[in-house]
Amino acid sequence: MLGRFAYATKCIRSRCGHRPLDMHTAYITHPSFLLHDMGDAHPESPARVRAIDDRLHAAQLYDFLSHHLAPQATPNQLLRVHEASYVEAIERAAPAEGLFGLDPDTHMNSHTLVTARHAAGGAVHAVDLVMAGEAANAFVACRPPGHHATRNRAMGFCIFNNVAVAAAHALDAHALERVAIVDFDVHHGNGTEDIFRDDPRVMLGSVFQHPFYPFSGADTANAHMVNVPLPAGTDGAAYREAFGTRILPRLDAFAPQMLFCSAGFDGHREDDMAQFGLVEADYVWITEQIMAVAARHAGGRIVSVLEGGYALSALGRSATLHIRTLSGL
Ligand SMILES: [Zn+2]
Repeated sequence: MLGRFAYATKCIRSRCGHRPLDMHTAYITHPSFLLHDMGDAHPESPARVRAIDDRLHAAQLYDFLSHHLAPQATPNQLLRVHEASYVEAIERAAPAEGLFGLDPDTHMNSHTLVTARHAAGGAVHAVDLVMAGEAANAFVACRPPGHHATRNRAMGFCIFNNVAVAAAHALDAHALERVAIVDFDVHHGNGTEDIFRDDPRVMLGSVFQHPFYPFSGADTANAHMVNVPLPAGTDGAAYREAFGTRILPRLDAFAPQMLFCSAGFDGHREDDMAQFGLVEADYVWITEQIMAVAARHAGGRIVSVLEGGYALSALGRSATLHIRTLSGL
């Protein structure tokens, strides 16, 4: 698999020369995403990014994307959203061999520190590509995921909050005034809320199973933190109703200049990590709604960052259709 990534170092336009590059969806990944490994029994495994990659090939979509390698996030990019003492603690915790546990679910191997820097850096690179007009939108197929990571705590498989690092980059490096993060992972984006709770430049819209891990998000007071807790058993129809009535109007009122997705696919009915009943068509619908908001307010600018999704076939199918929808193909 490493060989498959090896040639994907620059934008590739092998199959669709009729589409200008700035109309492409950028697909951002890195070989290190296969190296962070928390053990054979852990659901957040390297096989997840392989599943997406394989399905993109099987769907003959891979060659229609522009491919980019994720650089490592710089210290300054991480420090926009994480406390310096936390970043230093993660650096100190990195083991030379074996596993080091950051919480009961989240472990580091000898590659994890570098992998996590590439994950956050890939999301930053996606912002730069889209803001420069070099891609219409972007999907970052990274791991470890990020949305549970708070300013000063790793948890729930997450170390650096990739989407938060990217959103902060859009605000600080590109001088945007308002960005929105739509978190459709089945779990509440508690880390993202922790980071932006007091920053009115960032709207978070998170739809999640509740009560459920991480047992947060039902009592948020700040208006720009839009949390929609839904019960176990929520199916696509109920999800769309909630998303359409409680997230979309708030996004339109906020009028973000760029949209981010915390793109988790663990609400799929085949994913036993949680108890939602979503199917691929629901992820297409969610993507279309986010694209419509982006078209109305943000010049179409969307950066989508992989979060959860642990049933490998469902993850591959759902993420591929999400990316296909983003690509307009
Ligand atoms: Zn999740």
